[in-house]
Amino acid sequence: EPLSRAWNFSAGPAAIPEAVLKRAQSELLDWNGSGASVMELSHRGKPFMELAARAEADLRDLMSIPDGYRVLFLQGGATQHFAQIPMNLTPEGGSADYIVTGHWGEKAVREAAPYVTARVAGSSVDANYLQLPARESWDLDPGASYVHITTNETIHGVEMRDIPDVGDVPLVADMSSDILSAPVDVSRFGLIYAGAQKNIGPSGLVVMIVRDDLLKRPGRPMAKIFRYAEHAANDSMLNTPNTWGWYLAGLTFQWLKEQGGLAAMGERNRIKADTLYAAIDGSDGYYRAPIAHAARSRMNVPFTIHEPALDAVFVKESGDAGLLALKGHKALGGLRASLYNAVPLEAVEALTAFMRDFANRHC
Ligand code: PLP
Repeated sequence: EPLSRAWNFSAGPAAIPEAVLKRAQSELLDWNGSGASVMELSHRGKPFMELAARAEADLRDLMSIPDGYRVLFLQGGATQHFAQIPMNLTPEGGSADYIVTGHWGEKAVREAAPYVTARVAGSSVDANYLQLPARESWDLDPGASYVHITTNETIHGVEMRDIPDVGDVPLVADMSSDILSAPVDVSRFGLIYAGAQKNIGPSGLVVMIVRDDLLKRPGRPMAKIFRYAEHAANDSMLNTPNTWGWYLAGLTFQWLKEQGGLAAMGERNRIKADTLYAAIDGSDGYYRAPIAHAARSRMNVPFTIHEPALDAVFVKESGDAGLLALKGHKALGGLRASLYNAVPLEAVEALTAFMRDFANRHC
C-alpha cells in the first residue's frame, strides 16, 4: 500500500498521532453532534467547558499532577513565557538563576533580562553544549526567586533526565520538547511549561503546571492578561483561549492514555532513541552523534555525516524516500531527527534502513 503520510522527523511543529488527526478529521464539520466544528463554538458553552475540563483531568492523570498545582492552557508560545515567568515570579530588583544547556536556555535568559537579574548559574557553553554542566559546578544563589532549566534542548539535542536538587528555591522548567515523553515527578518543580507543538498538539498553545504558592507571588505591576493568577482564577478563560489547540491537546492526552500512559511512552521512546543512536554509533564513523552519551536527548538527535557535502544529498534523498524534515537546525548544520511521541518505532527503523543504504551508495 503506498504511504499516504511521510515519516515526519520535524522538530516542531511536529508529527501529531495519526489516530488523533483521524479523529479530528472525522468530527471536523460536526463536533459532538453540535452541527458545527469545535473551532466554531463558544469557549463558554457547556460542551467546550466539558472538553476543557476533561483535557485537564486527563493531563493530571497522565502526569500524576499533585493537588496544589494548577494547570493552565495559555498562548504566546514558550518564548513569551521566557519573559512572563520573571514578571510573575520575581519582585522588583529580584534575581533568578538560569542553567544554560543550549540555545533555548540562552534565549530564556535574554528574554528574562528586562524583568529580572538573570544570573547564569551554570552553563555548558564552553563545552559547545555537547554535555551538561556538572551539578557541582552550579553556583546557585539561595536568595534567587527561582532556578530555570531547559530539560531538553531541542536544537543541541541535550537532555537533563535527572531532576537536579536546587534546595528550597522553586525549580522552573521549560519542557517544551520533552513533556509527556516519560514519567516525571511534578512535585519536584515549582513551574513546568511547554509549547504544545512537539509532544502535545499544534502550535499556539502553551501548557503550564504551576504550584499554588507561586501564583500568590505579587510579581510586578502588569496588565491582567500577563498575570498567571488571573488565568488560574478564570480557568484559563480570561480571554478567548486557543480552542482548537486545547481540543487537539485533549485528544492527544486521551491517545496517550490509550497507549498505556507515560511509563509506556518512556519505554517506547527509549527504544526509539537507542535504535537511532546505535545505527549512528555502529556506522564506523560514517555518521556521528556529537553529544556526550549521558546527555543525549531521546527526543532530538542531531548527527553529522563524515563528509559535510553529503548533508544536502541526504536531505534530498531521504525526503524523496518519504522521510521528512531531517535537515539540521541552521545554527548547527548537519542533520537532526526528532523522535517525539507521535513518531513510531517503525519510522525510526525506516530511517536507520535508509541511513545504511545511503552509506553504501555514497561511500
Ligand atoms: N523552548 C524549547 C525547548 C523549544 O524547543 C522551543 C521551540 O520551539 C521554544 C522554547 C520556543 O517555543 P515557541 O516557538 O513556542 O515560543
